[in-house]
Amino acid sequence: MITYRMTHNTASRPSNANAPEPKMAGGNGFEGWTAGPSSALDTGMIAQGQSFAGGSSRPRIIIIGGGFSGAALAWHLHRTAPHRHKILIVEPRDEIGRGLAYDNDDPAHRINVPALKMNLDFDEEGHFDRWLIATGYPARDPASVIAGVHLFPTRKAFGDYVNAHVRELGDAMTHKKAKASAVIPDQGGYRVVCDDGGDIQADTVVLAVCHTPPDVPASLTQLRTHPDFIINPWQSGALGDIAPDARVLIVGTGLTMADIVASLDRQGHRGHITAISRRGLRSQTHATQFSENIGDFASNPSRTTLSLLRHVRRTIAEAAREGKSWHPVLDQVRLQGFDIWRALPLHERARLIRHLRPFWDTYRFRIAPQVDDVIVRRIARGTLTIQAASLRASASKGTALSVDLRARRSATWKSASFDAIILATGPAHGTVFSSNPLLGQLGSDGLARPDPLGLGIDVDVQGRAIGRDGRASEKLFVAGPLARGTFGELMGAPDLARHARNIAESIARMDVRASRLPPPPVQA
Ligand SMILES: Cc1cc2nc3c(=O)[nH]c(=O)nc-3n(C[C@H](O)[C@H](O)[C@H](O)COP(=O)(O)OP(=O)(O)OC[C@H]3O[C@@H](n4cnc5c(N)ncnc54)[C@H](O)[C@@H]3O)c2cc1C
Repeated sequence: MITYRMTHNTASRPSNANAPEPKMAGGNGFEGWTAGPSSALDTGMIAQGQSFAGGSSRPRIIIIGGGFSGAALAWHLHRTAPHRHKILIVEPRDEIGRGLAYDNDDPAHRINVPALKMNLDFDEEGHFDRWLIATGYPARDPASVIAGVHLFPTRKAFGDYVNAHVRELGDAMTHKKAKASAVIPDQGGYRVVCDDGGDIQADTVVLAVCHTPPDVPASLTQLRTHPDFIINPWQSGALGDIAPDARVLIVGTGLTMADIVASLDRQGHRGHITAISRRGLRSQTHATQFSENIGDFASNPSRTTLSLLRHVRRTIAEAAREGKSWHPVLDQVRLQGFDIWRALPLHERARLIRHLRPFWDTYRFRIAPQVDDVIVRRIARGTLTIQAASLRASASKGTALSVDLRARRSATWKSASFDAIILATGPAHGTVFSSNPLLGQLGSDGLARPDPLGLGIDVDVQGRAIGRDGRASEKLFVAGPLARGTFGELMGAPDLARHARNIAESIARMDVRASRLPPPPVQA
């Protein structure tokens, strides 16, 4: 058991929040990166023992997308092979390391995994926790300390932690504040075209773009232009105009719904909120006691969804007989997710997504205790109802939004009116090739394609994009949740950190093959 003030290990040096800003690059005059002669990597000039410090001969890696995945990859690349690469992150946001999830200063939005487990390095438990302690965070946000043991800080604090660590890379990393609009094969590497007219040469490109805006369900398209229909609740200020007594309908009952309720509650909303989804399932809470993971789903992995389900249920029942909860069993499923996923044939993976994913999502994505407190309080006071129901839009009456609701297993539609409707169905990753112009270009040029289950981008087990011809590219990688069609569970920060490290190691191995460099150090 860890008690903060007393026993926490603060030995590791905290990241210095005052570390220099990463170098910023803008426009076309981007020294050393503009399209030019091919790098030493391509010409085989990098020899064993050669110093890379400050040289332009270092392999040039462009990471497109500077959210958590892009930042973690840059950090791991530098850690795996310090100063071996020139790293450029193309990211339109002001700061690296935030992305959609952590670029938000609403104090009601908490990380949904204890800080102990949300680390830049998957195997370095407590890295973020120690940084929080060393920077005095718990005293500034006492509500982050749960039962004197776990820290659940704001999501902004996690973004601060990631950003502080990439700043420490100093000259090894450059941030270009722009959007990439095309990646074009060129001189054995790529040319990355940006929306500001920049045109940058790279040896290796990593796509770390991820979340797309939510998609409006067909049943609600007629409301699309209504001012009180909020399609993207993550947009800054999206909930600001909702009156304190407004009747609100939230479509979706997972963690996004919970965030919306917590934000509304914090801004003084006291009206009634109805939240609906097909099954009306809401996110589960964290275990109250720590336990080692339980079960083995990797040694002899299930070949069908049904046998996997039975195996999980059996293991949960065995754990219950020993007085343990389901949490450590599902934590083990998550840890062994790749082995489980890999053993299932494609049609069984599709079946798992169709039948088990809604349940998996509610058990796997657990809610922060502070946010759960708000949900529980509002349900108890009768100002929040969570229902299993379907809906369809009906004619609007005056300024209110009208919909028809049908409770699960009922045949009767009942009409209801709301002052605001908010979509909480999450990012529409299945449409990423049409919603992100860069992926549209990569798709139409045959350099990347959607994975067979429509979860994101098709990649091989090294994370390399598979093109239209079915072949994996040598130097185009995908980091982050869009690679999950190949890896299975790949959404939470711990899984993404592990994936980023694997890609960094793949790139380092590729350098070794191309140039006879010494291999990257093996991580303990
Ligand atoms: C609201 C929310 C809260 C979450 N909270 C948690 C949590 O508490 N704990 C946890 O473990 N997991 C959480 N997750 C899951 C996970 O940590 C995040 O999904 C993760 O941060 C994803 O990071 P990413 O870098 O892969 O993607 P993103 O955060 O989407 O970052 C991608 C970046 O790419 C940029 N980009 C897109 N297109 C281009 C382009 N053409 N050129 C240049 N840049 C581009 C975008 O600007 C963006 O910054 C959360 C997810 C969401 C959506």
